[in-house]
Amino acid sequence: MTETLHIVGGGMAGSEAAWQAAEAGVAVVLHEMRPQIGTFAHQTGNFGEMVCSNSFRSDDDEQNAVGLLHWEMRRAGGLIMATADAHRLPAGGALAVDREPFAEAVTQTLRSHPNITTDHGEITDLPTEGKWIFATGPLTSARLGEAIARETGADRLAFFDAIAPIVYAESIDMDVAWLQSRYDKGETEEEQKAYLNCPMTKPQYEAFIDALLAADKTEFHEGETAGYFDGCLPIEVMAERGRETLRHGPMKPIGLTNAHRPADKPYAVVQLRRDNKLGTLYNIVGFQTKMKYGAQADVFRMIPGLENARFARLGGIHRNTFLNSPTLLDHEMRLKSRPHIRFAGQVTGVEGYVESAAMGLLAGRLAAAEILGRRLPPVPPETAMGALVTHITGGAEAKTFQPMNVNFGLFPPLEGLRGGRKGRKERYKGYTDRAKALWSDWLAAPEAVTA
Ligand SMILES: Cc1cc2nc3c(=O)[nH]c(=O)nc-3n(C[C@H](O)[C@H](O)[C@H](O)COP(=O)(O)OP(=O)(O)OC[C@H]3O[C@@H](n4cnc5c(N)ncnc54)[C@H](O)[C@@H]3O)c2cc1C
Repeated sequence: MTETLHIVGGGMAGSEAAWQAAEAGVAVVLHEMRPQIGTFAHQTGNFGEMVCSNSFRSDDDEQNAVGLLHWEMRRAGGLIMATADAHRLPAGGALAVDREPFAEAVTQTLRSHPNITTDHGEITDLPTEGKWIFATGPLTSARLGEAIARETGADRLAFFDAIAPIVYAESIDMDVAWLQSRYDKGETEEEQKAYLNCPMTKPQYEAFIDALLAADKTEFHEGETAGYFDGCLPIEVMAERGRETLRHGPMKPIGLTNAHRPADKPYAVVQLRRDNKLGTLYNIVGFQTKMKYGAQADVFRMIPGLENARFARLGGIHRNTFLNSPTLLDHEMRLKSRPHIRFAGQVTGVEGYVESAAMGLLAGRLAAAEILGRRLPPVPPETAMGALVTHITGGAEAKTFQPMNVNFGLFPPLEGLRGGRKGRKERYKGYTDRAKALWSDWLAAPEAVTA
């Protein structure tokens, strides 16, 4: 038998990684701390437990990026997708899953695999040898979190996720918004125009504050505490502290001149910052929020220039341990400082059940190939799998790195297709057709033997 692969965490990512490696012929030990040590969100000791909603989101593999990721994982023989399909509930175009039989089936399949041994115990340190995948998720145990922080530096391991909403660049009205850094700071023109600005008049600002204060908010889960984020308060909490607080914080208008109407001094300005190297996504600076999703879209579309904004993801704040992967992981998801250790799942800075399982699938295949003395070709960035892994391991801006759902903004643009809302259907079909062909080729590619 080959060298053993140790996988820590039997959630979405760890379960899929274990399955992929075991199916490739590698001996796997799957370490899971539950049920001996629980988390505030998990209820059972099962592998593949869905902690909150029972949805894998859209199953449309032609027009939706997460649907495409489903397609790619099915094509790769993914355990999580096959089990989800077997326990599917009626939910229109979405893939909803009967969560208990789903987790029981994942557990049963892994336990009965001849190449998999399970070990229920907490791993509290980063090992110095062996081959490992850490897939310990957003609720990584405290002791392991401390060990990871010692290795990476505390500033490169986040424990909370204060997510500002992310907007598709093409949906921003550039007849209203303009590009400018505050006080035109920066050496190069690119730096001087690093931000996109949306101006507000006094009545617009007042209406915005009223809407913020009235919007539906979510509460913190038990075990989460708001005390952690004094440095990044939700905007509605800032608004509650005083109607002018935001105007002196993330919405301050100073150092900015409206390029369309230089004579008009904006009363407040909302700034957006580029979120990826492709320039297809912008995040709204300082706009982390606990508003419910429906309310967020309504409130943010009150911002001049964002009336027709489409969101790659909405804002939120919750307990979430994740690495600054763009600086810490190499393109094969190995920790640069300890390449015998890979990370997978939500702890790498992807967000969601499906994305986490996808990163587990990839890490499992990459680790198995390495153990078997083979090297897989790089995953094409035009596939959903490749777009995600490229984003977390280098495509994202490291300084503002926040967990990311798969979305078409991560895909290299297709040349020659119509932009904007009108061209969307054709463009998305173009993305998914291209991805399917390249993913099929990648799966079929002969592996180079390296040892
Ligand atoms: C409260 C909450 C609600 C969420 N709701 C949704 C949702 O509705 N939809 C969605 O798509 N995503 C949701 N997410 C995100 C969700 O957690 C991830 O999408 C997904 O479960 C992550 O998969 P994962 O495999 O990376 O982590 P997990 O599925 O959490 O698996 C990690 C596993 O590692 C184990 N573990 C942790 N530390 C150790 C250790 N030291 N030793 C051994 N084992 C360890 C944990 O017990 C756990 O089983 C939610 C997250 C949270 C925290």
